[in-house]
Amino acid sequence: MTTAPHEKTADNSANHEETLGFQTEVKQLLNLMIHSLYSNREIFLRELISNAADACDKLRYAALDNDALYEGDSELRIEIEHNREANTITLRDNGIGMNRADVIANLGTIARSGTAEFLKQLSGEQQKDAKLIGQFGVGFYSGFIVADEITVRTRKAGTEVSEGVEWRSKGEGEFTVSDIEQAQHGTEITLHLKEDAKEFADDYRLQGLVRKYSDHIEVPVRMPKTETATDDEGNSIAGSEVTTWETVNEATALWSRPKSDVSEDEYKAFYKHVAHDFSDPLTWSHNKVEGKLEYTSLLYVPGRAPFDMFERDGARGVKLYVQRVFIMDDAEQFLPLYLRFIKGVLDTRELSLNVSRELLQQDPNVDKIKAALTKRGLDMLKKLTKDKEQYQTFWKTFGSVLKEGPGEDPSNREKIAGLLRFASTHTDTSAQEHSLADYVERMKEGQRKIYYVVADSFNAAKNSPHLEIFRKKGIEVLLLSDRIDDWLMSHLTEYDGKTFADVAKGELDLGDVEDADEKKAQEETAKAKEDLVKRVKEALGDCVQDVKVTHRLTDSPACVVLPEHEMGYQMRRIMEAAGQPLPEVKPILELNPDHALVARLEGAEGDLFTQLSYILLDQAIIAEGGHLDDPAAYVKRLNSVLTA
Ligand code: ADP
Ligand code: MG
Repeated sequence: MTTAPHEKTADNSANHEETLGFQTEVKQLLNLMIHSLYSNREIFLRELISNAADACDKLRYAALDNDALYEGDSELRIEIEHNREANTITLRDNGIGMNRADVIANLGTIARSGTAEFLKQLSGEQQKDAKLIGQFGVGFYSGFIVADEITVRTRKAGTEVSEGVEWRSKGEGEFTVSDIEQAQHGTEITLHLKEDAKEFADDYRLQGLVRKYSDHIEVPVRMPKTETATDDEGNSIAGSEVTTWETVNEATALWSRPKSDVSEDEYKAFYKHVAHDFSDPLTWSHNKVEGKLEYTSLLYVPGRAPFDMFERDGARGVKLYVQRVFIMDDAEQFLPLYLRFIKGVLDTRELSLNVSRELLQQDPNVDKIKAALTKRGLDMLKKLTKDKEQYQTFWKTFGSVLKEGPGEDPSNREKIAGLLRFASTHTDTSAQEHSLADYVERMKEGQRKIYYVVADSFNAAKNSPHLEIFRKKGIEVLLLSDRIDDWLMSHLTEYDGKTFADVAKGELDLGDVEDADEKKAQEETAKAKEDLVKRVKEALGDCVQDVKVTHRLTDSPACVVLPEHEMGYQMRRIMEAAGQPLPEVKPILELNPDHALVARLEGAEGDLFTQLSYILLDQAIIAEGGHLDDPAAYVKRLNSVLTA
């Protein structure tokens, strides 16, 4: 947690009442929430029911080892009541409950570190922030959107009746906790509705919301129904009112229902419950598998990235159930890292109910399920590719995570490759929208390789001198400029039987796109320039590995090329930035025999020849996005030639 906790302001020892300040981030959250969720106030009910359902899940799990925790009341349930006169709504659950320490920790701070992180990054601009707040689950504190005071009465299952705790707050910076007697274990939350939120104290409204948001929750959500007996003439008989509890939600675990029974809205509502997300998922995949390996999975692709996606210890993984009993959140063992954006539920009989995070690491069934879920995840993405627009949304958000795949999971390399999207010279825009399949389809006759260039930025890639011959011949090149791209390409060796070729590395090989005449002409030029090449090599000495004449270039005088299996410039820079010492690599300088500057070089002598040779080399390195060892020397040479 980030800020110093609560400052004590009072302690009345009779019932041990104390008033504490909220963690700073809670105050911020409350403030933002009240202002920005105004048009979406009803979500408070979803959040509170979701917590009550979690509490029931936790009790059921704890009771596996100790039946006594039920205190003779094992019928888990959530009850919602309202009182129109008092203007209150009350939610009650007979779940795990909280003790004093739990209450202070859970209802005084922000449980999710991602949320606290998010709040830290907030700018002061309320307007902008208001939109951002929709990006994470707001939890318990959302009660204050509709309430100007909240009272929580709770007792942890298995503790003494005298160990109950009351928490109350007006949501304005502090809360008060005191000891109370509480007969029933579990938690009861009373919302004192604001003047303008009275509409929620209504049967019809509440029922509608429970169905909308909580149908999928396995625990029954009940509301009281008052029936009045009538006499023969149909008049109600005074004093005959009987209240019965009626279950309002569907109350079966959504994933255990047949697919055909679950509506799109129910899937979406369930996503919001599991993923703590406000917005709709992009897609999902629901599977029940029987046979050797039995499991049910419901996996979702979110529509936006969580804040901790690139943090090592960010929350990821699925909610794990064993035979419908909730075991843990964020079970990360069932999906590879490169699919860490997938959220959802796994329910299986292959694991023991006593499984712990440590045990999961040793269980061979875990790997089998992981392989199966990985396949499901990739298939789900493949289906999503059919909707180009949706897939672009996905790709923009999670593409760079998926690019970790070929390195992490060689067994699925080809499948993952099919899901990758690139910018390309086909359109010359930075949008990563071209698949390898599209590329292969557009390949020229005689072309055998998939060409790509890697640079630090899209513009550097697009304007790379290495592309000149490809543009001239109309051969498409993929334009890569994400940080991870060099690394990605080092793991992608083949697609659809075609190998990949970095246009800035090794010998230029255009396959059969070039005809015999062209090749012959090139050889002749090379011969004619042998002397020039020799002189440049002498002038540059140790600075280059080799000098050659090239036909890669049409507009530029020169370019540098790396040996075929050498690490790319982008990767070098990333590793150097990370403090990894790397052996020096010398480039091969290639000259464009048709360029005026090269012609000038050929005619130069002595010092001017040396200066020009260095200038060509340094320019080529700059065009590549590289850094000069001695930029001042370059400027000096250039100026001396310009003024000569
Ligand atoms: P989250 O549910 O994402 O953890 P919340 O703000 O909704 O965050 O709730 C914070 C914490 O308060 C929960 O993690 C839980 O420990 C506790 N809590 C909230 N409601 C209940 C409840 N009805 N019963 C038991 N514990 C609860
Ligand atoms: Mg919650």
